[in-house]
Amino acid sequence: MTHAAVSCEIIAVGNELLIGDAQDTNTYWLIGQLTGLGGFVRRCVIVRDEFPAIAGALHAGIDAGSRLILLSGGLGPTGDDLTLAAVAAALGRPLVEHAEALSMLTKRYAELAARGWLPSGAMNDARRKMALFPEGAEPIYNPVGGAPAAMLEVGSSTVVCLPGVPAELKGIFTESMAPLLNRLFGSATYAMHTVIVNCQDESLMASELQGVVDRHPRVYIKSRARRFGPEIAIRVSLSTTGPDGGVVDSVLGAAERDLAEAMARLGLTCTPAAD
Ligand code: ATP
Ligand code: MG
Repeated sequence: MTHAAVSCEIIAVGNELLIGDAQDTNTYWLIGQLTGLGGFVRRCVIVRDEFPAIAGALHAGIDAGSRLILLSGGLGPTGDDLTLAAVAAALGRPLVEHAEALSMLTKRYAELAARGWLPSGAMNDARRKMALFPEGAEPIYNPVGGAPAAMLEVGSSTVVCLPGVPAELKGIFTESMAPLLNRLFGSATYAMHTVIVNCQDESLMASELQGVVDRHPRVYIKSRARRFGPEIAIRVSLSTTGPDGGVVDSVLGAAERDLAEAMARLGLTCTPAAD
């Protein structure tokens, strides 16, 4: 049985990411989350805060049939935050004020003002701008900051626009996107097992290792030399994604046993890595 993992793309938006002013940690974090859920991240890009750049990346994801496309950045109140307007334009949809998104923003600013964190909690044009959604998009609650995320269906793709502030992006993903993620990923599972091979030189095990790789096409096998105490040893990680934990365990287990036998033919032993 083959398992078609949910294909995902990430589009990080922001000029600051492309001038070396901020590092794109959101993509790295999201890749870990999506992979851990059993997804397959097929592509990530960083684009500028510009309509054609955002539209091009979005269309590339939709045309590739990616099931989940996550954008990060550019949801804030300032003029350079134009992700939602760019997404709307790219899809030929109007930007419309979303009542629920506006109510989320109104409540959040009132709370922040009540805590004394803002001089005024009143809505103004810049704050209202964060409730302007592409037609058909739905807000996703932001438990950390102001701007809600926006989710929309485009053909077979689900597109979610997340804020760029890392704490907000993580808060929305972990706290508010659970229903969507459950629906998309279900019981899909990812696991990685790592073993240490007591080999001094990776090249000596290359041919046997390739045999294991060829016999287990569903398992991603990666070896790397590593200092291990005073000695050099090779660290080999085996990872796979499957429809559930049982399948993943049996697929990884078979590859691990095969690896141990292949290394034994070279007089080498495999031990599970401690970390
Ligand atoms: P804001 O309301 O703060 O304007 P926003 O959704 O518009 O939120 P941006 O303006 O794109 O987000 O970025 C806000 C902050 O988050 C900036 O400090 C930026 O450096 C940081 N940031 C943006 N994108 C990323 C990213 N991909 N990885 C890490 N940090 C990021
Ligand atoms: Mg901003």
